[in-house]
Amino acid sequence: MSSQSKRVLVTGGAGFLGSHLCERLLATGAEVLCVDNFFTGRRSNVAHLLGNPRFELMRHDVTFPLYVEVDEIYNLACPASPIHYQLDPVQTTKTSVHGAINMLGLAKRLRATIFQASTSEVYGDPSIHPQPEAYWGNVNPIGPRSCYDEGKRCAETLFFDYHRQHGLKIKVARIFNTYGPRMHPQDGRVVSNFIMQALQGRPITVYGDGAQTRSFCYVDDLIEGFIRLMATEPSVTGPVNLGNPTEFTIRQLADVIREVVGNAVPIVELPLPKDDPRQRKPDITLARKLIGWEPAIQLRQGIEATVAYFDQLLSTSKLDRSQ
Ligand code: NAD
Ligand code: UDP
Ligand code: UDP
Repeated sequence: MSSQSKRVLVTGGAGFLGSHLCERLLATGAEVLCVDNFFTGRRSNVAHLLGNPRFELMRHDVTFPLYVEVDEIYNLACPASPIHYQLDPVQTTKTSVHGAINMLGLAKRLRATIFQASTSEVYGDPSIHPQPEAYWGNVNPIGPRSCYDEGKRCAETLFFDYHRQHGLKIKVARIFNTYGPRMHPQDGRVVSNFIMQALQGRPITVYGDGAQTRSFCYVDDLIEGFIRLMATEPSVTGPVNLGNPTEFTIRQLADVIREVVGNAVPIVELPLPKDDPRQRKPDITLARKLIGWEPAIQLRQGIEATVAYFDQLLSTSKLDRSQ
């Protein structure tokens, strides 16, 4: 282990984005401490990193204090999909709020730079498109998505107050829909649902008329954005939108997935969930300007890699291919 390696803590490191971030940080020569309570994350996501002497995996819940010694912190711990964050909404808010307080307290003691994985959900059901960082959002404080949206909004407040009050170096990224290998196959998100349905020969479930739009960022592009944002001058705090500005309707996504899987499964329309935003698309002008970042991977290319991952998962796990 090199004495010059940067020591980096990744909370939620065994999750979808966290596992890719750990991998990327190890590739840059850092020592990585991955902290996770395995609520939605899986040991298998980081199993291939366990043999690396610069990687350490620790089971811990960030709602409890954590005393470790690191130079940088990426705070990703929080279930991200509605199915998971609504299972125990109080714990979701605690993870965002108490988790942020503990990680900010840790950063304050260590004078470490701290990154927050915030979300486009802070914009709620937005009334302007695309959403720039200056938009304050349109969020329901008492709905079924509120534990996530308001938890993340409060975490942003805490980050900026620790910055103003204690001079902490903070980096806040507002992440828009991201997909790729190691997404949870049963997280109910549109990309994983549609791919699993097409691979298993089941009808594709479009909620509502499928005319609502999302913009899908491939995970490698997103992680590049994290690394670039962390490397900025202390004066750069964010929030910075990170996402893919190319907009697709949910029906268009269904068509790309059917094509890539090569299975013309039927489409069925199901009711639209409550508070489901009609349109979401990031304005990434700021990311372009501050960190020279924009996504490079086209939807079809990213879907091909993700389909390959799910296909492999179906071949090696107990998940039934013909369900
Ligand atoms: P994920 O569910 O795969 O990962 C979250 C990880 O956090 C999991 O490994 C989970 O076990 C862990 N975790 C949850 N509660 C914890 C706790 N109390 N203590 C310790 N670990 C805990 O989700 P993801 O897609 O990898 O998301 C990572 C982060 O990025 C989240 O904060 C999420 O809100 C944010 N984000 C993701 C997206 C996206 O499209 N994937 C979009 C916006 C924001
Ligand atoms: N904390 C932590 N690790 C540390 C330092 C602090 O988990 O190395 C937690 C601690 O539990 C505290 C929280 O971070 O409640 C906020 O710390 P801060 O110093 O801001 O506040 P205080 O300790 O005064 O409550
Ligand atoms: N969606 C869908 N079918 C599914 C899952 C989701 O039509 O099987 C829709 C959902 O209603 C929403 C969009 O796809 O309009 C994106 O949903 P997801 O839960 O992936 O992300 P979010 O709503 O958080 O953007």
